[in-house]
Amino acid sequence: MNQQQGLNPSFVVVGAGLAGSLLALALARRGGSVWLVGSVYPSATALSYGSLPASALSSWRQLEQWHGPLGLQRSRLVLHGWPGPLRLLPVWLQALPTAPFPFARVDAPTLAAALPGALERAGVSRWQGTVSRIEPRPGGGCWAIGGDGDPIGAGSAGGASGRPSVAPQLVLAAGAANRNLWPDLPERLRYSWAGVIELDPSALDREQRHDPWLQQVLQGRIVQPLRLRRPPLEAGAASLLGERWIVDAGLALSGDRILMGQITLVGPHPDPGLPPDPATMEARLRAGLQELDPQLASLPGTYRQVPVSFCLGGSPLAGPVDKAPGLWMFSGFSGAFAVVPSLAESLADRLVGAVERQ
Ligand SMILES: Cc1cc2nc3c(=O)[nH]c(=O)nc-3n(C[C@H](O)[C@H](O)[C@H](O)COP(=O)(O)OP(=O)(O)OC[C@H]3O[C@@H](n4cnc5c(N)ncnc54)[C@H](O)[C@@H]3O)c2cc1C
Repeated sequence: MNQQQGLNPSFVVVGAGLAGSLLALALARRGGSVWLVGSVYPSATALSYGSLPASALSSWRQLEQWHGPLGLQRSRLVLHGWPGPLRLLPVWLQALPTAPFPFARVDAPTLAAALPGALERAGVSRWQGTVSRIEPRPGGGCWAIGGDGDPIGAGSAGGASGRPSVAPQLVLAAGAANRNLWPDLPERLRYSWAGVIELDPSALDREQRHDPWLQQVLQGRIVQPLRLRRPPLEAGAASLLGERWIVDAGLALSGDRILMGQITLVGPHPDPGLPPDPATMEARLRAGLQELDPQLASLPGTYRQVPVSFCLGGSPLAGPVDKAPGLWMFSGFSGAFAVVPSLAESLADRLVGAVERQ
C-alpha cells in the first residue's frame, strides 16, 4: 500500500502482549514499518485461560492462516453453579448441557512461543527493552523513552543503534502499565489483580488427578461458574469505597499445566497500586475453591498474579489519545481473546489512514 504511494509509515507499538502483538501483525500486513517494544513476559496474556466463544473462532482461524499456528484449540465449556439440586449432580452430568456447543481456547504458552516467529516473518522489528516513559517529541508526535533515558528512535533512520527509527505514530498497548507511561488517560481505564494457582498434573498423585473437575480440564475443557462474579465487580469499580475481591472458581489448561482460579481484586482507584499480598490472595482463592470442591482447594501448586486492564462501560480504548498528537491507545478489553483480533484490524486501518493523511 504505502510503498506504492512513496510513503514509509512508521509505527512503534509499546507492549508485546496480545494487544500489541496482534496490532503489530495487522500493521505489518498493511505494509507498515513496525517496531514492537517489550516482551510478552510478564503479562496478563501469558497467564490467561485464553477462552474463546465460538463467534471468535473465525478471526483466530484467519490469523493462523496468515501467520501459522498460534495455539488455537477446540474446547468445550463446562459450567458449574447450577440452581438448586442440579449443583449436586455428578460432574459429568453437569458438563452435558454445554457439551453440544462449540467453544475454543488459545493456549497461552503456545501463543507466547509462536509470536516471535510470526512477528519476524511478518517483518515486525523488535526491541525487547522496557519503556520508562512517553514524552512529547519536538516537532510533533511522541517519543518512547528507554530505560537508559534515551528516546527510542532518536538515532538516525534505520536505527544504527538497533533501536527504532522515527515513529510518527506511537501506540500504547502496555496493559496495566499504560498509565505509568502516560498518566493523562481516561479514568474509565481501570485495573484488577487476577490470581491463579498453577498446577503441574505430573506432580499430583493418582487420587488427586482423578478429581472429577480436573478430569474435565485434562480433556481440554474449560470449567467456569454459570454466573461469573468478575464482570459486575469490575463494572462497579468506580463506586467502591475500598478494595473488594471475588473468586470465580474455574480451571483451564495452559500448556502442560493447569490454571486453577480465578481470584479478582478491584480497588476504587484507576491505577493498579501495589500488588496485593500473594499469601493472602492465595488463601482467599483456596477458600473460594473450597466451595466448589474441597479436594481442589488443597492441591499443591504455585500462586501467580498479574494486573489486568479493563474499561468501565465495557468498550476498550482503541484510538487516539486526547491532546497528544501521534499517541494512540489499545487497551482495557473485556473478553480480550475474542475482541482483540478484529479490533487490531480496524485500529491498524485507522493508524495507516492517519499516516497517509500527514
Ligand atoms: C488468569 C487470567 C485468565 C484470563 N482468562 C481470559 C479468558 O479466558 N479470555 C479472555 O479473553 N481474556 C482472559 N483474560 C484477560 C486477558 O488475558 C487480558 O485481557 C489480555 O491478555 C490483555 O492483553 P494486553 O496485551 O492488553 O495486556 P498484557 O497481556 O498485560 O500485555 C501488556 C504487555 O506490555 C508489556 N509492558 C508493560 N510495561 C511495559 C514497558 N514499560 N515497556 C515495554 N513493555 C511493557 C508487558 O510486559 C506485556 O507484555 C485472563 C486474564 C487472566 C490474568
